[in-house]
Amino acid sequence: MTTKPTTCRQCGAVFNRTRHVAFYCSKVCAVVGRLDKSGPCWLWTGSKNSMGYGNLGFEGKGHYAHRIMFEDAHGSAEGGVVCHRCDTPLCCNPDHLFLGTQADNLKDMRTKNRHFTKITAEDVLSMRSLRGKITLKEMAQRFGVSFGCVNDIIYKKTWKHLL
Ligand SMILES: [Zn+2]
Ligand SMILES: [Zn+2]
Repeated sequence: MTTKPTTCRQCGAVFNRTRHVAFYCSKVCAVVGRLDKSGPCWLWTGSKNSMGYGNLGFEGKGHYAHRIMFEDAHGSAEGGVVCHRCDTPLCCNPDHLFLGTQADNLKDMRTKNRHFTKITAEDVLSMRSLRGKITLKEMAQRFGVSFGCVNDIIYKKTWKHLL
């Protein structure tokens, strides 16, 4: 592997550039360098996964952007799930993140979905038009909401006023 001294785009430190680490000296710099901090939520501007979380490759491994920021500010999140108080999967502001279990995360998502913070009437209509064409699980992924939320919409337990 060839290495070449390179200046980090984020902090200006000089590091050895390798095949896997091209522009930033650390995982944290790789995240911070690609955040939109114009609002209270620091939004990741890089690639995201099917769940809507920001992810990045660093040293040949995949990482969640928000998890890196959480660990940098609050310490190891090992064994836990980093959840969002602000219900914005792309947000990487450590103040908006807390450590929970997988069960907390799902419960949290379900509670928040009940408040329809993200779903619009348009989403509801397109979900219902997709009924029978794709599975509810695929719909949940596509719209970034929980299975229970999609189920309630499709079977008109929620959004009853929309036909
Ligand atoms: Zn750096
Ligand atoms: Zn946030």
